[in-house]
Amino acid sequence: MRFNCPCCGERGAEEFVYHGDAAATRPDANSPTAMADFIAYTYERTNAAGVHRELWYHAAGCHLWLVVARNVMNHQIISVARARDVALAQTAQATCGAQSNGGT
Ligand SMILES: [Zn+2]
Repeated sequence: MRFNCPCCGERGAEEFVYHGDAAATRPDANSPTAMADFIAYTYERTNAAGVHRELWYHAAGCHLWLVVARNVMNHQIISVARARDVALAQTAQATCGAQSNGGT
């Protein structure tokens, strides 16, 4: 399996460290159901076949955090993006959505 790192180019998987599901959303620690929410966040996964969004770290390279879309059935890499860019896009989308909802 090879990753196309946005910074380093194509590299072998041995340079990267898997850090889990990138699609999971961290629960609100101040919620009254925080304990149950964190248990579900940590331990309950569907492990469905198909494409997963995963968090990877380029430990033996540029040290970027990456969001990788990978088909777990055949290990095909569909896309690789900087995690920072993905997070900023999600924040912008959430902010724009909140503004449009509040303005109506
Ligand atoms: Zn890299």
